[in-house]
Amino acid sequence: MLELKNLACGYGAFGAVHDLSLNLKAGTLTALLGANGAGKSSTLMCIAGHVAQQGGQIHFDGQDIGQLPPTERVRRGIAISPEGRRLFKDLTVEENLRVGGVIHPASYFAQDRDRVLALFPRLGERLDSLAGNLSGGEQQMLAIGRALMTRPRLIMIDELSLGLMPKVIDLCYQALKTLRNEGMTVLLVEQNTERALAIADGVCVLESGDVAWQGSAADARNDPELAA
Ligand code: ATP
Repeated sequence: MLELKNLACGYGAFGAVHDLSLNLKAGTLTALLGANGAGKSSTLMCIAGHVAQQGGQIHFDGQDIGQLPPTERVRRGIAISPEGRRLFKDLTVEENLRVGGVIHPASYFAQDRDRVLALFPRLGERLDSLAGNLSGGEQQMLAIGRALMTRPRLIMIDELSLGLMPKVIDLCYQALKTLRNEGMTVLLVEQNTERALAIADGVCVLESGDVAWQGSAADARNDPELAA
């Protein structure tokens, strides 16, 4: 579904990612791992069209989307729950979901919102609350929910578990499993390697903008060097 060929991206003259090749099959979950500053967020933001592509290609459904603006990538089925969540804090939960669904006819809204609420029932209790007043876990659910409102086929989630309580992390991971079972393709950035490896199908580890390791999650789990 998504194929990165020798992708390079960065900021001005600075290269954050140098030569990343990665294939995501439809309906699989891939974990993108690595230390701070390895280039994980830059990769997701480049796929979404928000960080400059400096080389290589991004193919989605077999087509090169590298020149398309972010909105067109969303229309094709790519959504992101970005680092820091970037919610509209002065809008309510329901309004944030509306913003996510704005590319679709208004008649889709109720059905798509209810799908998000089925995944995250807690958000249903907070529909009229301002996003800025939510707990960290609720904000994470809302960021994912807002992305889902675009009706994506590929969802990219940056730092799913960062700063969340274990119980909430469980909920978020359960939601990911549900989404994958429904056929969604997931690209997940995580600092919590153990959690990510427990759920992922494929793994790519970045180190200073280069691929340090790539393979199946099963192989990753059995590789002591990688764990270290
Ligand atoms: P983290 O977990 O800390 O977010 P990461 O693996 O997601 O790490 P990136 O955020 O993609 O890494 O950063 C990759 C490199 O790009 C780092 O050297 C970082 O300092 C640099 N960088 C990130 N954002 C910008 C920016 N807006 N302008 C310039 N350089 C940036």
